[in-house]
Amino acid sequence: MDDIQEKTDFIRESIRDDLKKGKNNGRVHTRFPPEPNGYLHMGHAKSICLNFGLADEFNGKCNLRFDDTNPTKEESEYVQSIKKDIGWLGFDWKDREYYASDYFKELYEYAVLLIRKSKAFVCDLTADEIRQYRGTLKTPGKESPYRSRSVEENLKLFEEMKNSKYEDGSRVLRAKIDMSSPNLNMRDPIMYRIIHETHHRTGNSWCIYPTYDWAHGQSDSIEDITHSICTLEFEDHRPLYNWFLEQLEIHRPRQIEFARLNLTYTIMSKRKLLELVKNKYVNGWDDPRMPTLSGIRRRGYTPEAIRNFCSQIGIAKADSTIDIAFLEHFVREDLNKKAPRVMGVLNPLKVVIDNYPDDNFEELDAINNPEDLSAGKRKIPFSKILYIEKEDFMEDPPKKFFRLAPGREVRLRYAYFIKCNDIIKDKDGNITELHCTYDPETKGGDAPDGRKVKATLHWVSAKHSIKAEVRLYDRLFLKENPLKTQMSGDYKDNINPDSLKVVTDCRLEPSLVQAASGDIYQFERLGYFAVDPDTTEDNIVFNRTSTLRDQWAKISKKN
Ligand code: ATP
Ligand code: MG
Repeated sequence: MDDIQEKTDFIRESIRDDLKKGKNNGRVHTRFPPEPNGYLHMGHAKSICLNFGLADEFNGKCNLRFDDTNPTKEESEYVQSIKKDIGWLGFDWKDREYYASDYFKELYEYAVLLIRKSKAFVCDLTADEIRQYRGTLKTPGKESPYRSRSVEENLKLFEEMKNSKYEDGSRVLRAKIDMSSPNLNMRDPIMYRIIHETHHRTGNSWCIYPTYDWAHGQSDSIEDITHSICTLEFEDHRPLYNWFLEQLEIHRPRQIEFARLNLTYTIMSKRKLLELVKNKYVNGWDDPRMPTLSGIRRRGYTPEAIRNFCSQIGIAKADSTIDIAFLEHFVREDLNKKAPRVMGVLNPLKVVIDNYPDDNFEELDAINNPEDLSAGKRKIPFSKILYIEKEDFMEDPPKKFFRLAPGREVRLRYAYFIKCNDIIKDKDGNITELHCTYDPETKGGDAPDGRKVKATLHWVSAKHSIKAEVRLYDRLFLKENPLKTQMSGDYKDNINPDSLKVVTDCRLEPSLVQAASGDIYQFERLGYFAVDPDTTEDNIVFNRTSTLRDQWAKISKKN
């Protein structure tokens, strides 16, 4: 989609290989299989870009399949959010929206088939006993005493399980494979559990639910998937994936595993992210500090930036962690091209231009986007009383501070040179106001006599400015790897207590009255800012997407 040159990695190699061999009649059909038990995060973005990307590149198809086999944790709120996020990222599953729960009946019938083949049995051991019988990596497992039940008895018990005759946890259906297999997944794995819960789609029609291992491969096969791409933790499940399909003698997709995406200073587990939401460490799944797609969208990240990032990190067979600065690099790169420039002052300091006529004001030309001249120009008002950034003035500046100081001249962007003559302080000694003079000859920002200034400051006209609230974000966690904790610690100990700073009395140029939720701007010199949905008519709220400094550029230069 973004990158037309042909990509190579081990997954694409395998697919090309299959195509060369004429497998699947030249079809490529992938799927993205989220479990609707949370919102999607950046890790899912990697998987979405891969699965939908492969379909695009190989002229194939990609299904969206909700892996909704666990009624206790799944909700339709999550289904809606997942669909919204995939569409926002720029991918389209067309009419191929499927649910593993749509296959409950087929899966049941497949299970009956395995029982008939003496390849599955109903087991009455408790969960604890099953665990004990399972053995370890070093010791073989022990066969369940129920393993030798007759086909008839198994068929009867399994049907009764389905018909709600038994309590949760009292019985399971297991595959009959090999309790001494070196692969623990092959030691008579569980296929069905009894769970009396209402399912978000099937309601109370079922009280037995398939496990991931039992549902996944068969769902892939039913959908005629050719390449079932998943993350590395499923590598040891592949023999089981294949075993089920072989026993059933149905279409066998090829499972290929790749490494999960991990990012520094954040976590990528729905379970943990849910914990942050539930315990109010963040303000919901779409909190702009979250690595969720809804969070980073609210923060101002663009789908293009995320797709470019996913394309650049590539696909590998070994786990690794990507520096979050690398992701931020792609956001800046994209927003630099697109975001209209405006001026806004986060911490206003009043500046009075003593030699400017009291009631006068003028409109100066400002360029909307130097990276895209087709974006045109706009007018910004200039008047006697202005605001500049507090940190752009120092009464007693150190050597390397080139911005405004007593007796010093600087340029105001798109306006004039101003010189500071006087400082006014309150009774506590805080600077409340600067008195300056402007040079009318420097309109537009240059002096006809060629004299230079060392700084250009952003500013707004006080009486024309609009007030805004700005939310500044820092990393959600203090540690690169938040999961690394002290002996008895928890990843939550590593949460950054200062990850959100709200600044309420910011002043923005008046063109921003029309800013609508989701719009993204570059505030000159300050960074990229996205209008938050919390914005009301009286209070415009911005999220800082990122600063302008590209830490990644620095990091990659060092290496
Ligand atoms: P989590 O651990 O966050 O719950 P999951 O793997 O259980 O993740 P699923 O909803 O089952 O979440 O994932 C849907 C798809 O996304 C799967 O194919 C999974 O392999 C993939 N996926 C999940 N997390 C990542 C990740 N960090 N990097 C790449 N792919 C991922
Ligand atoms: Mg999962």
